[in-house]
Amino acid sequence: DEGIGSWTDRRARVDPQKIAIRFGEETYTYGQLHDRSIRLANVLKSLGIGRGDRVAYLGKNHPSLAEALFACGKLGAVFLPLNTRLAAPEYEYILNDAEPSVLIHESDFEEILREVASSVLPSTLISIGESEHSDYETRLKVASNDAPQVRVRLDDLCMIQYTSGTTGHPKGVMLTHGNITWNSINMMIDVDFSNDEVSLLPVPMFHTAGINNLFLTTILKGGTVVIMRSWNTEHAIDLIEKHRVTLLLGVPTIFQALAESARWTTADFSSLRSLPCGAAPLPLPLIERYAERGLKFLQGYGMTESSPNATFLREDKSVEKIGSAGTPCFFSDLRIVDTSGTDVAVGERGEILLQGPNVMSGYWRQAESTRNTLSDDGWLRTGDIAEQDEHGFVFIVDRIKDLIISGGENIYPAEIEGVLLRHPAIADSAVVGVFDARWGEAGHAFVVLHPGATVTSVELHEYARSNLAGYKVPRSFQTIGTLPRNATGKIMKVILRGLADVGDD
Ligand code: AMP
Ligand code: MG
Ligand code: MG
Repeated sequence: DEGIGSWTDRRARVDPQKIAIRFGEETYTYGQLHDRSIRLANVLKSLGIGRGDRVAYLGKNHPSLAEALFACGKLGAVFLPLNTRLAAPEYEYILNDAEPSVLIHESDFEEILREVASSVLPSTLISIGESEHSDYETRLKVASNDAPQVRVRLDDLCMIQYTSGTTGHPKGVMLTHGNITWNSINMMIDVDFSNDEVSLLPVPMFHTAGINNLFLTTILKGGTVVIMRSWNTEHAIDLIEKHRVTLLLGVPTIFQALAESARWTTADFSSLRSLPCGAAPLPLPLIERYAERGLKFLQGYGMTESSPNATFLREDKSVEKIGSAGTPCFFSDLRIVDTSGTDVAVGERGEILLQGPNVMSGYWRQAESTRNTLSDDGWLRTGDIAEQDEHGFVFIVDRIKDLIISGGENIYPAEIEGVLLRHPAIADSAVVGVFDARWGEAGHAFVVLHPGATVTSVELHEYARSNLAGYKVPRSFQTIGTLPRNATGKIMKVILRGLADVGDD
């Protein structure tokens, strides 16, 4: 068995008593994690789940997300982690697209699930509650702990992670067991994980960085993961001090919050030795602030489609190569090409292409998008524009798709525009990113109203809130007579950004 479902077996074989996970006051040894994942696999098996079947998970950070992932892995089933911040129509779309047979969810999500059309909900819902008598715990208790005998190979599908697309609908990124394994191997080579690692997990586990990078790589190496339910600056400092955390993986917003804490100068960070940071570029003042405390970042660039690591900037280059996302991961290759697919010269801009055993097998049920994104010889089009210097260091310039990144979360304007266009008063719409002191960037929506229609900003805000995850709701709305478009009909967002009247609320 080659799949990641076997990782708990192998770890439990070596280190059954070692703590794999800390979560609040709870601890899970490798032996327990193994036992519980096997039991869950048998629960799923008894529900008819087998090779290729999808199992969805909806819940905030919790050890059961990892149990569900390993349980699926042991059966050759496909794990489908859902973003916890979506609105009912968004869950509906994904559930309809992925057709999971089982949904494991935290009881807190029962309310929103009631708003989802029952026709797209799987027939079996397993509820995780606070008590040991929850549906989930009761099922585990009575399940067998005999390992299910399923042979899983590296080429088998392991996970589908949904990522928002420019067309407005999210796309399911298909990752194989091999993709995820090779991502962890890249990570262990470039980040230097050790088996006495104590890793703090402050980002959502349903995202690629939380589950694939931090969680799985720490487990593969045999360290301990301290799972945070959700981000809280003071609590993070407490955990770093209490558990002598050695590795903290985050996004710029999180590192900014730590630096702004009143405890920044007095906190004991002497145990920290590695700070991987991705999703967006780190500002120089923040790098300097950490350097004053002897702390260096390991910046990375990647995407869900590459499981996600593509490049790393080594700590010792973080100041000399400021602004760079580094060089390709050990087992990944990178090219920067012009629109004809020819490699650009040093210092010239083009689109980043990625190749390697960590690159996805395609988009779920999206043959055309897959063909447009993955070439026959395995090069992935990233949609990101970058240039490389003479030593091969990559500098990300912009995203072709005009992605907005707010507090580490991706916001795709087209998705919001699609929702706004469904409003009866709105004839046309375009969303652009504007500077936001707290989240780095926020969405600003331009709307063109139908002749004679009237609508207030407050009404638009409420409408957006009921149809979109909170972080995607535009911070401000602005009516405009007509949207500037180029000759081929594309909205010229560069011009719109200049017109954005964001006030100073
Ligand atoms: P996701 O698939 O949600 O992980 O988002 C991937 C996208 O985030 C990439 O295509 C980039 O546009 C952006 N991104 C990730 N890391 C960085 C970075 N270090 N610097 C700039 N942009 C980044
Ligand atoms: Mg993307
Ligand atoms: Mg994202």
